[in-house]
Amino acid sequence: MLKRPIRALALSILLPVFSVAPAMAESIDTTPAKILFSDVKTPIPLEARAIGSYAKGCLAGAVALPVNGKDWQAMRLSRNRNWGTPELIAFTEKLAYDAKRQDGWPGLLVGDMGQPRGGPALTGHASHQIGLDVDLWLTPMPNRLLSREEREKMSATSMVNEKARAIDRSVWTQGQVKLIRRAALDPRVARIFVNAAIKKALCQDARGDRGWLNKVRPWWGHTYHFHVRLDCPPGMASCVPQKAPPPGDGCGPELDAWLQPPKPPKTPTKPTKPAVKPRPILLADLPAACRQVLIGAPPGMTPEPATAPMAYDAAPPADVENPADAPVTGTLH
Ligand SMILES: [Zn+2]
Repeated sequence: MLKRPIRALALSILLPVFSVAPAMAESIDTTPAKILFSDVKTPIPLEARAIGSYAKGCLAGAVALPVNGKDWQAMRLSRNRNWGTPELIAFTEKLAYDAKRQDGWPGLLVGDMGQPRGGPALTGHASHQIGLDVDLWLTPMPNRLLSREEREKMSATSMVNEKARAIDRSVWTQGQVKLIRRAALDPRVARIFVNAAIKKALCQDARGDRGWLNKVRPWWGHTYHFHVRLDCPPGMASCVPQKAPPPGDGCGPELDAWLQPPKPPKTPTKPTKPAVKPRPILLADLPAACRQVLIGAPPGMTPEPATAPMAYDAAPPADVENPADAPVTGTLH
């Protein structure tokens, strides 16, 4: 059953990559992986697997979130980033369903998940590479079907007064508190990233049990949406998990450190070296299985089994979102 689609797919992938752009055929190892992965428009029909780590990996067997659900609408459809592991799709659909029925949230506007084969994206994210990250808007869903154009152009609402480094109480409601709380309470969720001013508001507004606040971590930006990251699904050996957040609700001095005004820059005493632009991630930097995910299994070859050990860079990716949860001072962006 699988052989045919794989062969067809391998061809459909090889053709655009190798015939439309012949230069790329020679340079698949030198072209930034974000260009290679953003060029591929369809998933690879292998067993669903998150391969590698959140900021250095790819995705096999991706599933698309339908662009319209009863309780959600996917946004920015032109980006083709409504793909994820089946776990991520199930999580998003369940959150939308439960939040509407149990908390009265009118529906989810779903931002970026991942690309059809995961991997680095051309714009916007260091992570979102293995089908376990989703951005959810903090703007309630309007009570109508949005047109394709509206989904491109409609602006989200920022919940933060950036000048005051504080939540904007004219738009922030218990609705957002309940929505983030419900997401955090899902046992599949590893972390949720929000702006520090939003975390501060959650710390102030949380009622009763505060255990869920542990998963909600401050990070740059994230004033318009919150970013949910799932744990590696059980038994998925190819997926590299992130360390659990440190214990506690994270509402203490480490949070306040994020909200301090930026320190004035020190005057350099020695001449500083010009900044070196970091090298973009290449296919060879990703787990070895990502090559197969990108170009498709050659005809007649059996796809790698899910439990096979993966060759991947053991060093933690430098650009993973909130790698160490270290308190950082600086601007809110
Ligand atoms: Zn995100």
